[in-house]
Amino acid sequence: MDRPICIQNAMVIDGTGSSPVLSDILLKDDRIQGLGSIAPTADMELIDGRGMFCTPGFIDVHTHSDISFLYCGNPSGHILQGVTSEVTGNCGYSPFPLRDDLQFIQKRRNSLSLIDTPLVAWKWRTWPQYKALLEQQGVNENLRVLIGYGSIRAFVMDYDNRRPTAEEQAQIEAILDEALRDGVCGLSVGLGYAPDFYADTEELIKAAGVVRRHNGIFAFHVRGERLTLFQAIKEVLSIALKTGVRTEISHLKCAGKANVGRMHEILALIEEANRSGADVTFDAYPYTAGCSYLGLVFPPKYHEGGIARLLERLRDSTLLPRILRDMEYGYPGWSTFIGEQKKQQIFFRLTAFTGRWWAAGIQFWGLSVKAKLE
Ligand SMILES: [Zn+2]
Repeated sequence: MDRPICIQNAMVIDGTGSSPVLSDILLKDDRIQGLGSIAPTADMELIDGRGMFCTPGFIDVHTHSDISFLYCGNPSGHILQGVTSEVTGNCGYSPFPLRDDLQFIQKRRNSLSLIDTPLVAWKWRTWPQYKALLEQQGVNENLRVLIGYGSIRAFVMDYDNRRPTAEEQAQIEAILDEALRDGVCGLSVGLGYAPDFYADTEELIKAAGVVRRHNGIFAFHVRGERLTLFQAIKEVLSIALKTGVRTEISHLKCAGKANVGRMHEILALIEEANRSGADVTFDAYPYTAGCSYLGLVFPPKYHEGGIARLLERLRDSTLLPRILRDMEYGYPGWSTFIGEQKKQQIFFRLTAFTGRWWAAGIQFWGLSVKAKLE
């Protein structure tokens, strides 16, 4: 049997909200067996905790380590930062299910560039196959995985901007149901991304019903985080109230000048929904910058068919002025990303991997929107 471990004289913050206390901690058989003053014994391994804090592991409920876990059991050294549990598959971005079709897989990798790396060959197609690869790799954290609505929708109906047929709807629900039975902890949707944003509220209510049956979590990257923020939050709250699904609003924020100082109004809406019987929580990141893939700046309707089609549209000189206008001013239901952004507030990071297919997009941006940004 492993030797007992005693961490001595650490400042213990136990996570309950109570004040830190100076304490020893006795660990045995993977459990905390004692707190307070522990008398050392000969068989103990002693760790000097003087001058250090000791806390339970942190839980990161919003990560995109889906692919990086497959080449490294602890991507980005999360453990070294004290994170012992994390949730992947956020923003509709799970790397499964995939059609057994290399062209389709490349299309999905283009969309999921935010989480992808060329270091991993995408050999899986289904959740069980992906899970088996994770197990084979070995993961040194507690990992919970969400299935992405966009991934399911792309699998069933590609990047079509329309409602699913009855048959497609049944297929979407069947895939979701099976994954929830087989261990994913819930569903995520990225309503700022293709093809998720082609799903209307009614479609999302149907998906929420399936998640509710399994008592899973439904995590929302909401439809708009800027000018359309309030209607986007209200959409999520209406789904939460109507279905009773356990709801998480991902990276809650009030972006855009019009929303400065309005977070208390958003919180009041969430509290009111919870008083009316909804079960809504949220997470937020502790900095004022945001990060996404470049596709986010182009309006949803130009993404139909996938990124290759988007790039074709950008090369179409008759269409380009309209795209530019929409990018600058937005349109009902979609608020512009760059309209009020200053040039120095936007940073591009081009990798060799993403650069290949984004070169056209960057060039377009540089030539056409440059004057405005300056
Ligand atoms: Zn997101």
